[in-house]
Amino acid sequence: MIEIDNLHKAYRSRSGAVTEVLKGISLRVPAGGITAIVGPSGAGKSTLAKCISLLEKPTRGSIRVNGQDLSLLTGEALRRERRAVGTVFQSSALLQRKTAWQNVALPLEYLGVVPHEIKQHVGALLESVGLSDKADRYPAQLSGGQRQRVGIARALALKPSVLLADEATSGLDPASTTAILQLLTQLRDTFGLSIILITHEMDVVRSAADAVAEIRDGRLVQQGQVRDLLAQPGSLLGDQLFPLRA
Ligand code: ATP
Ligand code: MG
Repeated sequence: MIEIDNLHKAYRSRSGAVTEVLKGISLRVPAGGITAIVGPSGAGKSTLAKCISLLEKPTRGSIRVNGQDLSLLTGEALRRERRAVGTVFQSSALLQRKTAWQNVALPLEYLGVVPHEIKQHVGALLESVGLSDKADRYPAQLSGGQRQRVGIARALALKPSVLLADEATSGLDPASTTAILQLLTQLRDTFGLSIILITHEMDVVRSAADAVAEIRDGRLVQQGQVRDLLAQPGSLLGDQLFPLRA
């Protein structure tokens, strides 16, 4: 469960000008569900994601993951607890000079996990994303969808309770998109993972998400259960497609 309360984020430029990007967002992401976050380009979705994964520090407000405000922790406690959130970014940010196997092993090596456990765990992770036979491939030798799956396996290496996926299916063809969404659904069902799916694609929301929240200009403007919104004419999931970036 993630509880976001009155979250504000402002950036200050070198000239001192302040841009307020998040303007008081409050949102609940229940455990074991897929919550989509949608909204136009520049709305603040990635900024929200970065605040949740502690890559950015909110100006005001709080984020609690499983009841704990990670921003209040330091040192060992922070290192331990921040593993609760795994992150997958668009184009998955894999290290090009490492194989799929080595990319997935990386977070475990950083943590000092012993080699035979790494071997076991990475094998299981690659299997869970259906890539056991591609372990020795370099990212350039994988398709976009396969790279995303390696990114997901890596994000899962430290057994997070939350998976944050920012545009994880952008740029993928429909078949690869479907495969990634099936994988996420399966991870939700098997591990009770809470998944935050940031996306421009309403088809993705309709087919995979349990709940959806729409952000515009740094504010939450609409949220609800996908099944309720689908039945509601004029909702963001109605016939009228949300204006998305091409
Ligand atoms: P997209 O759908 O295009 O990915 P987004 O909703 O993810 O958009 P953000 O990346 O969160 O949008 O950006 C929101 C706003 O914050 C944008 O206007 C962007 O220019 C601004 N912004 C993002 N990062 C910074 C930064 N480091 N410094 C200043 N402004 C920033
Ligand atoms: Mg973004």
